[in-house]
Amino acid sequence: MFSNSLIELDRAHLVHPVASYRGHEASGVRVLASAKGATVTDAQGHQMIDGFAGLWCVNAGYGHESIVEAAAKQMRELPYATGYFSLGSEAAIRFAAELAERTPGDLNHVYFTLGGSDAVDSTVRFVRYYYHAQGRPQKDQFISLMQGYHGSSTVGAGLTALPNFHGGFGVPLDWQHKIPSHYPYRNPVGTDPKAIIEASKAALREKVAEIGPDRVAAFYAEPIQGSGGVIVPPTGWMKAMRELCRELDILFIADEVITGFGRTGPLFACSHDDIVPDMMTVAKGLTSGYVPMGAVFLSETVYNTIADGAGAAAVGHGYTYSAHPVSAAVGLAVLKLYEGGLLENGVRAGARLMAGLQSLADHPLVGDVRGRGMLAAIELVTDKARKTPLPPAAEPSRRIFDRAWSNGLVIRAFANGALGYAPPLCCTDAEIDAIIERTAKTLDQTL
Ligand code: PLP
Repeated sequence: MFSNSLIELDRAHLVHPVASYRGHEASGVRVLASAKGATVTDAQGHQMIDGFAGLWCVNAGYGHESIVEAAAKQMRELPYATGYFSLGSEAAIRFAAELAERTPGDLNHVYFTLGGSDAVDSTVRFVRYYYHAQGRPQKDQFISLMQGYHGSSTVGAGLTALPNFHGGFGVPLDWQHKIPSHYPYRNPVGTDPKAIIEASKAALREKVAEIGPDRVAAFYAEPIQGSGGVIVPPTGWMKAMRELCRELDILFIADEVITGFGRTGPLFACSHDDIVPDMMTVAKGLTSGYVPMGAVFLSETVYNTIADGAGAAAVGHGYTYSAHPVSAAVGLAVLKLYEGGLLENGVRAGARLMAGLQSLADHPLVGDVRGRGMLAAIELVTDKARKTPLPPAAEPSRRIFDRAWSNGLVIRAFANGALGYAPPLCCTDAEIDAIIERTAKTLDQTL
């Protein structure tokens, strides 16, 4: 039961991920107690629509008995089996096979992790191993995008380009490089899709030339930049960058940790541009947040190069909980729900969400509305013509978050003034309309 002593226990003992420790100590924790469908209830009984699906992960929505049953059954039968040393479980094998059937092109090999950060770390290790196996170990430099997010491990945080993840942590590492984001709303070349794509291509070419063409190993991109503020590239951007990577002889890694599993409509966002990356990372919607799991999908070429390079030796990369059978059983149950109508509902609800957010475009605070499917943002400005961002301190976004919460809506308030939306795919029309109404009320209170 919730009580003030719980807040004190939290203050005294629980270190929260990505939080201002001192700010958090002052404000105290908000405890969520239960959830069903797209609604979460806090410990005081206040109900809210979860417009952010937890941390953009509960794509299926809360309270699915089929998921709970799948986990319970697996726990009863076999709660753990290592994937090390050629051991395994039926659930993990079946889940890998089901996924491989659905991944783009020849991404037929599935390496399970515990979440997104270690999926990204795994790609870095696989990339390095791949080039060693080819006899080209000098290809050891990595490029990613400004405003990108690729996790919070030391390696992932270095590929990430958000200041809080760098300052004081000694990252990025000296082999991690950045080029500007496509960021259509704030791109110096303007909003023309062709110009944006050409600018990104030129930036990648320049960076590769600067580092040395035979040194660059891989380029990382999210199909939509999530934590940077839901930044949507023009259609064709992913395809252009994928093709350029092939031309420049560098691997193209698509980070679909947020965009995977129906978040933008189809199972994977790479399908919008009909591309096949060399590797893809997923997590979050993979198990809909019910239990932790991530994965790397490897192309035939990458997998076979590594396998041939290792020969009889073990490829020394693994986690105790890689291919965890309970997570795999949950993943299988979640996949059934996606394909049993949730993906379709997400497409319908996503169109309604985008139309609803567009209807707020005339609000004096709304500078930009963007998104795809059930992944969207509005970027708030104090002067629309000049696109003046909200003051850079985290405080205004914190206040907007608090107001939305009081109005019965959980959203993500980014430090740059963007408000992020990633509701569960199960949302009804009425819930989408409520998200829009509660956003409008929150914006009016913020004026
Ligand atoms: N990559 C992307 C694109 C993400 O958005 C995230 C998390 O938000 C990660 C990687 C890291 O995933 P995790 O938090 O599961 O470690």
